Amino acid sequence: MSVPGRLALVTGGAGFIGSHLVDALLQRGLDVVVLDDLSTGDRANLASSGDVELVLGSVLDDALVESLVASADEVFHLAGAVGVKLVMESPVRTIESIVEGTRIVLRHAATRGCRVVLTSSSEVYGPAASGPLRESDRLTLGPPSVRRWAYATAKLTAEHLALAYHTDAGLPATVARLFNTVGPRQSEAYGMVLPRFVAQALSGGPITVHGDGSQTRSFCDVRDVVRALIALSASERAIGRVVNVGADQPISIASLAERVRAVLGVAAPIERLSHEAVYGPGFEDVQSRIPDLSLLGDLIEFAPSYSIDDTIADLAKHARRGSDGAATVSALRPAGAARR
Ligand code: NAD
Repeated sequence: MSVPGRLALVTGGAGFIGSHLVDALLQRGLDVVVLDDLSTGDRANLASSGDVELVLGSVLDDALVESLVASADEVFHLAGAVGVKLVMESPVRTIESIVEGTRIVLRHAATRGCRVVLTSSSEVYGPAASGPLRESDRLTLGPPSVRRWAYATAKLTAEHLALAYHTDAGLPATVARLFNTVGPRQSEAYGMVLPRFVAQALSGGPITVHGDGSQTRSFCDVRDVVRALIALSASERAIGRVVNVGADQPISIASLAERVRAVLGVAAPIERLSHEAVYGPGFEDVQSRIPDLSLLGDLIEFAPSYSIDDTIADLAKHARRGSDGAATVSALRPAGAARR
């Protein structure tokens, strides 16, 4: 598990979190293959990663996934439709990419007994969540008539699948329930709040706060999150577990907008927009989402090393520079071509 010379397959590795995970795995001396359909990812995210092989294709392609898992020593499964905006626009794509894609990855990993870490989301805690959220909490999701909950329901189904493959087929799987993850390369295109605030601030504003801004979130830098994912993959005790991953220092969205202004030293105006104006009628927001990190702390040594101000500054640096440039991915393999 995450040992130099071994091969890691990262689905969704051209995405925001996936590409940082690829960087961290390569730094640890692993060989890395990425499977990504580039639906929300970007080849340029891997431009500075060095020797990584990008396979263009979908986790919904059963035969392709089978061949890639067959070569892998461990799998990090991150691929799937992400972000509230995308979910609101494309519920079918969201549900299928998450549920069916996860089923295909898990089934082939189970056949090979391959170590798997898959990423779920704090969205599974639902609309009524409050206080520090524990993995053992009872979960209440919104009704299926409210589209937003399609994402949480799909992610929760993926969690159940992982645990079922673990208990019934011995699959060494761990579910990482990620809370808000932020950092360089996160796209503002899919409704993610911090890159949007930074882009708005850099262009002179306004910075648009959805709702009254009193809702709180805790943001964890992506470089800390990927350290946790790799450590979880190496932890025997994490097998068969669902584990919160994130930071537990909450900040209100209104304060976040102010931090962005302060760190970037700009005077962009802050405006409020109702959720309905952004997402249409019937949108439900969540007031607070803070993880209880006791289980994570028990399984691995984890203390976030980036503050929200560090992340804001790095996001701005990245946005000012543009993308990392044209992709120089060492090998681009068409779907279907075998590796070993
Ligand atoms: P992202 O959109 O940047 O990454 C997802 C990647 O998956 C993209 O590169 C996309 O092209 C790829 N992809 C989508 N469907 C695919 C398919 N069918 N086949 C192959 N590739 C496909 O998003 P991200 O923020 O990096 O999210 C990565 C994972 O982390 C996701 O599983 C997401 O649910 C989870 N997560 C993220 C956050 C966050 O704050 N960013 C929070 C909770 C959970």
